[in-house]
Amino acid sequence: MKTLLQNGLVYHDGQLTNQDVLIEGDKIVALGQNLGQLAPDAKVLDVSGKLVSPGLVDVHVHYREPGFTHKETIKTGSAAAAHGGYTTVCAMPNLNPVPDQPELLSQLVEKNQADGKVHINQYSAITKGLKSEELVDFKAMKEAGAFAFSNDGCGVQTAGVMYQAMKQAAALDMAIVAHVEDNSLLFGGVMHAGKRAEELGLPGILGISESSQIARDLLLAKETGVHYHVCHVSTKESVELVRLAKAHGINVTCEVAPHHLLLADEDIPANDGYYKMNPPLRAKEDQAALVAGLLDGTIDMIATDHAPHSINEKTGDMKQAAFGITGSETAFALLYTKFVKPGIFKLEQLLDWMSLKPAQAFKLAAGSLLPGSLADIAVFQLDQASEIKESDYLSMGVNTPFTGQTVYANTYLTLVAGQVAYQREAR
Ligand SMILES: [Zn+2]
Repeated sequence: MKTLLQNGLVYHDGQLTNQDVLIEGDKIVALGQNLGQLAPDAKVLDVSGKLVSPGLVDVHVHYREPGFTHKETIKTGSAAAAHGGYTTVCAMPNLNPVPDQPELLSQLVEKNQADGKVHINQYSAITKGLKSEELVDFKAMKEAGAFAFSNDGCGVQTAGVMYQAMKQAAALDMAIVAHVEDNSLLFGGVMHAGKRAEELGLPGILGISESSQIARDLLLAKETGVHYHVCHVSTKESVELVRLAKAHGINVTCEVAPHHLLLADEDIPANDGYYKMNPPLRAKEDQAALVAGLLDGTIDMIATDHAPHSINEKTGDMKQAAFGITGSETAFALLYTKFVKPGIFKLEQLLDWMSLKPAQAFKLAAGSLLPGSLADIAVFQLDQASEIKESDYLSMGVNTPFTGQTVYANTYLTLVAGQVAYQREAR
């Protein structure tokens, strides 16, 4: 079975060119002009005027299964990813039970494979029960199919445990993917510690709860040589520390979440749980440092931290609401609209940060349309404006403050291994 994506604006090898993409079975077989002549029997999809990109890669999602399926399931989470143009995601292990034993992890890997609409890589926990005490069996977890190691949702609280974890991961050529947060510096905060928190009368989360643990970890990473990846950096000090570490040749990569690029604490209109996430929306100068960090290569990639919750868990006061917002279905359209359209980012840069760069950093077979590679492809309608609507979400979570915004670059089609994983209905 052959499919021809005809006359799209194709992003390949750093270039945007009008051409065709020919797919046979699960693979891309050719890129070029007038490929219809090569394959007169192919099913033709006219994508003229649309962007054809390597499928997006998200190294940070929460699918809540097992344990919290009232928030999301592997099926709904991966359907949401496909809706956003993602074809490869990496799922976090803050589940119940926590995948901290090989049998639990291999069950989850099988379930991801069976239920996933996109390719799902599964993180193993770093420690048993995500408590900073006893390490998992790193070698057994790798053999059971772990993609990398993370305790996302909480930081590893002691240097000794993190040091041992990094040594074990390094020996297996695996990455440590760190949610950095020092619990002794939290003081019950629910949003960024700054003027806006004072105005709203809410307890603040200090930037140093994040940056001080990054500083510790970078020294441990230097000592152990591990690939150390920092999740959702949010402060200017964090960016500065990673910049310095890279200059010293430390094997570090990091990600930023779309909401930290799009909003600052002063944009929070009221004491509203839909603006509560961890790390929190920081100050304007932090937001500017994140944008600068992407542009100068300090920040390697954009990852959503897609964190669905039920409506009850997010409604009302910031003090009660759960941390986290959804992101898979809105990330590319929002970032294209707010950064590419005004000329702050080039389209090529945004695509690289959302596909090629995460694939390279984690050695994933993704992020390229090279003939011979899997047909993991996203097609976006760059020029068509549409409103972000709750009724369009495929995620079970509707917890995002971006609902109601008008955006461009909505997803038209997502192919995973040549199969349709999402297709926008004609309207
Ligand atoms: Zn996290």
